[in-house]
Amino acid sequence: MKYKRILLKLSGEALMGDQNYGIDPKKLNQYAQEIKKVKDLGTEIAIVIGGGNIYRGVQAETGGIDRVQGDYMGMLATLINAMALQSALEQNKMYTRLMSGFKVENVCEPFIRRRAIRHLEKGRIVIFGAGIGNPYFTTDSTASLRAIEIEAEVVLKGTRVDGVYTADPEKDKNATRYTTLSFQEAYEKNLSIMDMTAFTLCQENNLPIIVFDMNKSGNLEKLVMGEEIGTLITSK
Ligand code: UDP
Repeated sequence: MKYKRILLKLSGEALMGDQNYGIDPKKLNQYAQEIKKVKDLGTEIAIVIGGGNIYRGVQAETGGIDRVQGDYMGMLATLINAMALQSALEQNKMYTRLMSGFKVENVCEPFIRRRAIRHLEKGRIVIFGAGIGNPYFTTDSTASLRAIEIEAEVVLKGTRVDGVYTADPEKDKNATRYTTLSFQEAYEKNLSIMDMTAFTLCQENNLPIIVFDMNKSGNLEKLVMGEEIGTLITSK
């Protein structure tokens, strides 16, 4: 096993499956099964899930809701996804804890760093809901920050594509995939891997990111075992 403690970032949109909105139960269960494979290896797993399938703060401005209010709505959306994922993991016989970036005390614990680490040590999967609890941030920034706080060895960013490409592979058929990149190269080439805040946090703290296809069965497990799939972004 290459990684003992990972932070898995899933976008909210990934949970939609073939739907236009919301949560596809099949997708949720598929992800839970992928996570179970890695759990069974003995890996400590923390998860940050986005909210884009339900609500995104930037939408708010155009809809007449002010930005900050919209961001809090976005954070609540991530919490809904986190609760759904928690249920799916439990149905697949995993122990979990949900920790929130702001207080929702009847539903889950607040994020307390030492407590999160303790849960991981005890073999519980920790899901971080409600982002970092502040507006103007994203769940990518949450993933970077929490990964640093809990001393995860890597951020695994599960997406629909199998890595970072020279151009958008869905639009340009000549696009090729990078197997590795340095943070510097990614900046210079203006590749959008994560938002700048998230990306800079990883760079400054020497925290590698791997972008990979979460929809391909077995990928997560292969990564944890050290197989080179997706695109690895490191300090080099
Ligand atoms: N958000 C926020 N602060 C955070 C995390 C999230 O304000 O720390 C809000 C923000 O409005 C964002 C929304 O929650 O648009 C949903 O998160 P994100 O867009 O990152 O989800 P994803 O694209 O990964 O589904």
